[in-house]
Amino acid sequence: MRGCKLRSEHLPEETITPDNANDTENDFDDQNTCIVCFENPKDTVFYKCGHLACCNACAVMMRDRNADCPICRAQIVDVTRIYQV
Ligand SMILES: [Zn+2]
Ligand SMILES: [Zn+2]
Repeated sequence: MRGCKLRSEHLPEETITPDNANDTENDFDDQNTCIVCFENPKDTVFYKCGHLACCNACAVMMRDRNADCPICRAQIVDVTRIYQV
């Protein structure tokens, strides 16, 4: 299912199955973690600068607040969820 519009319902607890069976579950992977909430994986890029820094919830929140990109301070015109395969 490919939602182009954001669903406002918040998933309570997503079950994330890691691809690698590494037992480093406590390893905080800040490379892939939203820089705003440090909770969800980064999956949403800012338009137009294209920076991938936030999860969808935070990116949408920042867009709605007319915030700037935390990386380059560019105006966030819109946000785009990305789907890695
Ligand atoms: Zn976030
Ligand atoms: Zn940016």
